[in-house]
Amino acid sequence: MSETLPLVIIGTGLAGYTLAKEWRKLDSQTPLLMITADDGRSYSKPMLSNGFAKGKTAEALVMAEPGAMAEQLNARIFTHTRVTAIDPGHCRLWLGEEEVRYRDLVVAWGAEPIRVPVAGEADAILFPINDLEDYARFRTAAEGKQRVLILGAGLIGCEFANDLRCGGYEVDVVAPCEQVMPTLIPAEAAAAVQTGLEAIGVRFHLGLTLVSLRREADHYVAHLSDGTERICDLVVSAVGLKPRVDLAQAAGLAVERGIVVNRELQTSHAHIYALGDCAEVDGVNLMYVMPLMACARALAKTLTGTPTAVVYGPMPVTVKTPACPLVVAIPNKQSKGDWSVEGNGSDIKALYRDATGQLLGYALTGSAVSEKLTLNKTLPPVLA
Ligand SMILES: Cc1cc2nc3c(=O)[nH]c(=O)nc-3n(C[C@H](O)[C@H](O)[C@H](O)COP(=O)(O)OP(=O)(O)OC[C@H]3O[C@@H](n4cnc5c(N)ncnc54)[C@H](O)[C@@H]3O)c2cc1C
Repeated sequence: MSETLPLVIIGTGLAGYTLAKEWRKLDSQTPLLMITADDGRSYSKPMLSNGFAKGKTAEALVMAEPGAMAEQLNARIFTHTRVTAIDPGHCRLWLGEEEVRYRDLVVAWGAEPIRVPVAGEADAILFPINDLEDYARFRTAAEGKQRVLILGAGLIGCEFANDLRCGGYEVDVVAPCEQVMPTLIPAEAAAAVQTGLEAIGVRFHLGLTLVSLRREADHYVAHLSDGTERICDLVVSAVGLKPRVDLAQAAGLAVERGIVVNRELQTSHAHIYALGDCAEVDGVNLMYVMPLMACARALAKTLTGTPTAVVYGPMPVTVKTPACPLVVAIPNKQSKGDWSVEGNGSDIKALYRDATGQLLGYALTGSAVSEKLTLNKTLPPVLA
């Protein structure tokens, strides 16, 4: 009897585990192998940026150990195991010297933090926080410390600023942009969020970069590009994420910003699929939970013999900045439109419409957040 080749999923983040759960509802027989470079514990990544406010250690954020996941999913899970190459022509991949063969392969290996060069002694205190292990390392390092410098004023940088402030830290945010979340929201909404964060004590240094870090006695001195200095104990790097594409590219798969997949989440190779932060679905790479859930449901069906195209409805994102609540429906990059802004102070309603008046996106802050559900009804789907 010939051996039944497994479905292999690379990655045990929300994309990998959600797909495995959805697929197991439809196929209880085919062997499942999951491979992850980290410890394989199941957790919800969005919780990493409100863990201090909620007083949650990394341990407390664990929803299930890999052993429990393996049992629940009737799967083998290789933890602390890095896929080093994919060989699409022979339906196999490599873990260093070891070969693994697959029936179908799903790439759910996420995105990696962008790193900016900082001169001086930055390495010891510079923390990207993109998974539970990063978070655990940061929490350990932050014990007994007081001052955190955050690099980046995007969505994640602002969430960490709010969270660390709520956790009792002094927070300085340094970013080269002139407003917070420059690629997501118009200036008025950005001003509302910045003012909300400043009201709880966050200090912003916008239009500047961190040039170097120098150790001095029990703290570090951060030199900013305008010649000023800030004292800090730790630096959180939140300057953005980029989809992991290198191994896919080396394997000859089509790659743009992310790994290129069609609406059925299939890459340029028949037996290889991708979803989550690493995937660019029909030209769209969205690094949020809602899209990956939709992809997991569709892909589970495709992998069990019912080819199913994914559809994205409206995809509003609730930003975890309680100092100034913010919900954003990010306009599709291809769609042409203009922002119109109503409201003032912390309550901003910014609508992005095309020339015909069709709503394409929005940013709501403060009390305007309550209009979210009404507006969602008129938003077009992100992928119809
Ligand atoms: C701090 C933070 C807060 C967020 N908050 C929100 C939010 O509020 N709402 C929202 O919608 N989204 C939020 N997001 C985004 C959301 O969490 C991500 O879109 C989602 O978790 C991505 O899941 P993923 O499974 O694609 O990737 P990941 O969770 O990054 O998983 C990748 C997996 O692949 C493995 N891997 C990588 N390379 C290899 C390799 N070569 N071999 C083997 N394994 C490998 C990793 O070990 C890991 O298991 C947040 C993100 C961050 C960083």
